[in-house]
Order: sequence, then structure tokens, then C-alpha cells
Amino acid sequence: MNQDYQTLTSHIEKMAALRAALTLFDWDTETTAPPKSLELTARMVGQLSSLDFEALVNDEVRKLLQRLAEADDLTPAQAAVVRLLRKELENMEKIPPKEYRAFCELQARATSVWAQAKQNDDFDAFAPVLADMIGYVKKFAGYRRKEGQSLYDAELNEYEEGFTKEVLDPFFALLKEKIVPLLKKAAAKNASFDKSVLRRRFEIEKQKEFNRWLAGYIGFDFDRGVMAESEHPFTTELHNHDVRITNHYHEEAVENAIFSTIHEGGHAIYEMNVADELTQTPAGGGASCGMHESQSRFMENMLGRSHAFWEPVYPKLKEYFPEQLGELALNDFVRLINKAEPSLIRTEADELTYCLHVMIRYELEKELIDGDLSVEELPQAWNDRYEAYLGVRPQNDREGVLQDIHWSQGSFGYFPSYALGNAFAAQIYHAMKKDLAVEECLRNGDLRPIRDWLKEKIHRFGQVKKTRQLLREATGEDFNPQYYIDYLTEKFTKLYELETE
Ligand SMILES: [Zn+2]
Repeated sequence: MNQDYQTLTSHIEKMAALRAALTLFDWDTETTAPPKSLELTARMVGQLSSLDFEALVNDEVRKLLQRLAEADDLTPAQAAVVRLLRKELENMEKIPPKEYRAFCELQARATSVWAQAKQNDDFDAFAPVLADMIGYVKKFAGYRRKEGQSLYDAELNEYEEGFTKEVLDPFFALLKEKIVPLLKKAAAKNASFDKSVLRRRFEIEKQKEFNRWLAGYIGFDFDRGVMAESEHPFTTELHNHDVRITNHYHEEAVENAIFSTIHEGGHAIYEMNVADELTQTPAGGGASCGMHESQSRFMENMLGRSHAFWEPVYPKLKEYFPEQLGELALNDFVRLINKAEPSLIRTEADELTYCLHVMIRYELEKELIDGDLSVEELPQAWNDRYEAYLGVRPQNDREGVLQDIHWSQGSFGYFPSYALGNAFAAQIYHAMKKDLAVEECLRNGDLRPIRDWLKEKIHRFGQVKKTRQLLREATGEDFNPQYYIDYLTEKFTKLYELETE
């Protein structure tokens, strides 16, 4: 092995241990830590974060990485680790430490100001903090951007390399052109989709039992994974042998936890399938936010909301809830879990409307960072777009511009990953169907061939291959949003019995 890489390995192991400790504290805070522990625990987390920072940002690692960048005897996995660490180090070093500290302090303050403002429906209280935050985002993007690059493109590139405005503008334009009218036609026929049967009382203890079974059914390995409860469902991992998901149960909305299980399960299976040689290195996670979301959305929507998936699973659900679901036929159940309904809240949106929520945020971010939209004009601009694209207008900012935490954290350019994930999923699904009889696997209750395909083409590579390359190699072509448009159009035209053009 390359001597420098050998030396770097001990630094990598240290970073992996510190990051796992931070992840574990995070997990604990979200699931079981007592409320009064937060302040004192935060001090320890602060110490660990400093150690983590120093483990990367120091002269020895800097010199090793410089030499390794020139090395020609690294394996692809080692080269990926070097590339990722160099990028992280460069990003940290471009920002003056004093400004970075001020930003972190603002970030900590901004999220609590935002939470308060949301609770009180008081955008004016949040506006000055948001303006400061945008100031920092633009400043930092200015340090990072390549020559001639726009500030927003520099931000977008941080989250999803290569998916800048040049790719996203035509993608969202296509969504606007095709999906907005499709949604209007579907929504006009919503009277025949009565979900009240799913709003009966579904005992939480039974839901937990069913969801545990369901997680195992789709391939979540309980010998290497844990399932707990939290306010909002999420997935986290220490390494590929310890992947954790959470869920949240609602007594009168049985499908919520079911689709969270399948969604987070999709994220988790990705992490469990990363190659052993990569786990516990910086290249040991999913390729990008968008690629990760493609795996969860594929499981949740393409598989989990299909008729074929529920053929063997619905009888099992009925066994748990015979009184509630007794007279609801499989066909009707599948119709109800696919109902498309314009709404105000992104996180509660259905498969058809979800990307329109993301499109609105994309348009606004672009204008805030690269254009001349001011923070004062933001609520009005937000509401106008909801009315234009979804046909609903928020009555207050809590249900409007204040709903998401992201901007208070300084995350601009992250939202598009959610929409891209859906589009990647449709493209991957199209390619998979050429190799596999996907629906037949689902009907037989055997998801292993599907998981094996994903592992072989995507999961095992971790971050060794970049998202765009993975997509190209797994599907045989570059990113093509047409698959997503076709998938939605075909599915909802059939579901809503719309006339085809
Ligand atoms: Zn997700």
C-alpha cells in the first residue's frame, strides 16, 4: 500500500470514531435523551466537534493529502477518499475562521428565532436574521465559486455536483409545463377519493408491530439496524453494520408510519449495502443527497405505492386491522394511498404535488441569491407561487414561507436534491425494468432481486463514483427528467381515469 495512504489511515480512523460519536449523540438527542440533558451534552458535543475539525485541519494531513493528490498507485476507493478529504479541507480553509465562527453562532441563533417566529406566525421577527443568513451564504459562495460561476450555482454544486442552473432550469420548466396542468385535472376529480376509512382508530402498538414486520419484509436487516421513534422520521448510520431509522405513529393516519418505514428503509438499505472496504472512511456513505433520496423515493413510491407491492402485503395489514379495513378492497386501498391533493405543506405532500413545492423554493432561492428579490418581498412571492402552481394560497406565514427549517440553517441550494431524487428514481426504475420483472418480484413477495440490482449498480460504490457517473452507468444514459414526467403522467392519468391527449 502507498506509504502516505497508510499514514493517512490512522487519521481516517480517528475521524471515523469522532464522527460516529457525534452521530450517536445526535441520534440520542432525537430519540431518548432526557429534555434537561441538552445544555450539558451540547458542551461535550462542542468538544468533539473541535477534535473532529482538528483531526482534518492540520499540517500533517494537509501535506499527506497534497502528496497523495499526485500519487498514481491508489485504488479507486483510496483515490475517492483523498478527493473527498481534499474538498472538505479546501472548503474549510477558504472561509476565514472568524467569519465561520460568526456564521455558526448565527446559525444556532437563527434556528431558534425561526422556531419562535413560526410558532407566533411572525415573519417580521425572522426577517432580519434571514437577511443576515443570506448575506453569509452569498459571501461564502463567493469564496468557493469558480471563475465566472454564479453564487447560486456555487451553492448548488456543494449539494449535488454538476446539477447547476443549466440542468435545473429545464428540469423545473418541464415540471411546470407538464405537471401543473396534470394536477389541475386530477384535483377536479378528487371527490371520489374518500380517505375517511384510513382515519379510523388504528392502535399504535399494532402499528408498531406491523411496521417492524414491514421493515424486515423490504430488506431492513435488524441484525445491523435499529428502529426507534422520534418527532420526525429520519435515518442515520455509524457504519454499514449499524444503520438506524426512526418512525412516528399517528393513531388516525395509519399510512403515515407505513410510508415512513418504506422511505427510511430505502435510505437504510442503501447504507447497509455500501462495500465493507469503504465503510468508516469518508467515502463510506451514499453518493449525494439526491442519490440517497432517489433510493428512499424509489422504495416508497415506485414500489411501495404500487398495486403489485400490496398484493401480498395488504392481506397482512388486514390481519392486524380486520375491523378498520375489513370492507376496503385492495384496489380501493391502492387508490387512496395515491390520492393527489394540492396542499400547503411540503413534508405532507403526495407524490404528484411534491416536486411543485420544491420548484417554488428553487425559484425563490435563485432570486434571493442571484436576483433582486428582497427578504421583505418573500412572503408575498411565496404565496403568489402557491396560488399559481398548486391553486392554494397560505392564509398565514406559518403554513407558508416559515414552514421549513432549511433557510434558518443557511441551507440554500439543498431543496432541489429532493426533486432530483424523485427524477433519478424514475430513471433508475426504467432501467431496472429492462433487466428485471419488477412487478413479478413484488407480487411474489420477493424483493431480493430488486435489492441485489440496486446494490450491484449503485449502493456498493458509496461515494467512489459521483452521482452523475453512477446514474450514467446504472441506466446507460445521462440525467434525463423525461422518465419522471412520463412516469407521473402515465400513473396519474390511469389512476384518475383522465383523458389522454
Ligand atoms: Zn428521505
